[in-house]
Amino acid sequence: MSNYHIKHLEEYYQVYRKSVRNPEAFWEEIAEEHFVWRKKWDKVLSWDFSKPEIKWFEGAKLNITENCIDRHLPTRGEKTAILFEPNDPDEEAQRITYRQLHERVCRMANVLKDHGVKKGDRVCIYLPMIPELAISLLACARIGAIHSVVFAGFSSNALATRINDSDCKVVLTSDGSYRGSKTIDLKGIVDKALEECPGVHTVLVANRINGKVEMKEGRDKWLQPLLDEAYADCVAEIMNAEDPLFILYTSGSTGRPKGMVHTTAGYMVYTAYTFKNTFQYREEDVYWCTADIGWITGHSYIVYGPLANGATTVMFEGVPSYPDFGRFWQVVQKHKVNQFYTAPTAIRALAKENLDFIDKYDLSSLKVLGLVGEPINEEAWHWYNNNVGKKMSPIVDTWWQTETGGIMITPIPYVTPTTPTYATLPFIGIQPALMDEEGKEIKGNQVSGRLCIKFPWPSIARTIWGDHNRYRDTYFSAYKNMYFTGDGALRDAVGYYRITGRVDDVIIVSGHNLGTAPIEDSINEHPAVAESAIVGFPHDIKGNALYGYVILKEFGETRDRENLRKEINQQITEHIGPIAKLDKIQFVTGLPKTRSGKIMRRILRKIASKDISNLGDTSTLLNPEVVEEIIENSL
Ligand code: ATP
Ligand code: MG
Repeated sequence: MSNYHIKHLEEYYQVYRKSVRNPEAFWEEIAEEHFVWRKKWDKVLSWDFSKPEIKWFEGAKLNITENCIDRHLPTRGEKTAILFEPNDPDEEAQRITYRQLHERVCRMANVLKDHGVKKGDRVCIYLPMIPELAISLLACARIGAIHSVVFAGFSSNALATRINDSDCKVVLTSDGSYRGSKTIDLKGIVDKALEECPGVHTVLVANRINGKVEMKEGRDKWLQPLLDEAYADCVAEIMNAEDPLFILYTSGSTGRPKGMVHTTAGYMVYTAYTFKNTFQYREEDVYWCTADIGWITGHSYIVYGPLANGATTVMFEGVPSYPDFGRFWQVVQKHKVNQFYTAPTAIRALAKENLDFIDKYDLSSLKVLGLVGEPINEEAWHWYNNNVGKKMSPIVDTWWQTETGGIMITPIPYVTPTTPTYATLPFIGIQPALMDEEGKEIKGNQVSGRLCIKFPWPSIARTIWGDHNRYRDTYFSAYKNMYFTGDGALRDAVGYYRITGRVDDVIIVSGHNLGTAPIEDSINEHPAVAESAIVGFPHDIKGNALYGYVILKEFGETRDRENLRKEINQQITEHIGPIAKLDKIQFVTGLPKTRSGKIMRRILRKIASKDISNLGDTSTLLNPEVVEEIIENSL
């Protein structure tokens, strides 16, 4: 019996040791017992981080959709696979059973084929969170096409860059999308993008909002009539283990987006196995990840991981604030959600609101609360634990990246005791290392350094689309024989990891390495502070000094600014030490954020250093207007 489902701490340690001592044997057993293959592999793993080249399950043949759909049909045909909750709470939810999913994926696959899409072709998917989105990923996988999903909140420029980078000829989109009280003209954005994309010959348009859109003769077609006519069965293309499954561009908080390429077998095995354990998913559970499928979190933990386990996965079209700030909790009550997976940015936004928005709903179905995306501050962690979980649901703070494909460092709920703000222990098979600047591994506990991974895991990205050298330079050149994550971390006395932020965000002040996350944490504990970000700027004596951008809660706005500055620095002195005191504190109404809700620190760094001539690519910002305001009032 392989260790597919870990149930207690001793078992975790035992399985972990096994996975590290003999990774090939370990993953072979998982792959063998829990998935269906058209042909088994000849070799479990071959790898060379210097090239870099990584291959898992070489020689195996499979189709991931047979694992996510077909194999469930005999036993779970009538079970809900996707539970679609629309933007408008008055619109009825849609339950798509595994049998219906099979049919809808096959129809979509046939439509793609009819429009010339073949194995290996790239298809750009620019759809809102409606069932067609999940279905089109699976339809591409069915026929061996490589999907490239672009988050449907990106601008036409960002979309055009991504379409051209991976040379997509077909685009799937909708007439528009609902986002809270607004509608967004997606088709208009696509039309504008395609002015720059001569290679696109077909645009398939789903009807979501009954919008009046222009259909370009010969290029644009409504999707539904084609689906209705298409044949409801489609033979799955037999793929090699290492055939690309998808391209996904990183969220772009640090610069030019990178088209990460994920391949088939390893990605499937790892996302399924991490899903099962990180959420302790059981057959009757309803699981909800609030991310958008446009991010890796949605790919791995709305679509592939859950469906490979035969789970019921909720797809939510809306936003946490519409029609009011109780919307998440209303959905949890309505669908009796058992596992809830969201981002710190959502928690911080909701924590600013009245608790009545939570208290009127029954959240007793919740068993596991998840987090992903950025370091969570301690206050927000407790808010989540106290008010959503009622201290009964373990919080799994999952650290991972677009590049890693699946969750890397995380507690296993009901197995790993949690510590606020800590991602805790490496997942099974993951071998983290902390490195110093000279390239030496820092052993032992109570240390901090740059987070690397020493050994390949099945879902590591294999390359950057069209730029293998950039892949090598970005991830494998900083440290010999290591995958470098770009993040900093500390390891505490018991061996738990805490992610302290990106390495670029570690600021060296008077020779001390200061991570941004712990300092921001202590600022945020001030009762008048809603959110903050700190960056370094050049300083004659200290090398660098710290510049803080602070958003006040409403009641703080009337307070004397100078006193607030003193109190904030007092707080930092108490929590971390006087070395981390801020030289400058600017009060702002917002922080520049990516569309996935992460602070774009490189912009703040430039402003703090008074270098505003070239702010770089801001096309992926959620709120570009705030940049002007911050520049105007900068200190
Ligand atoms: P880009 O690489 O283009 O700058 P990005 O890094 O924001 O974009 P993602 O791959 O979506 O794109 O995010 C991964 C990063 O998010 C991690 O490297 C880490 O910095 C941060 N992160 C994710 N989860 C956590 C977590 N649980 N705790 C702390 N940080 C996290
Ligand atoms: Mg990154």
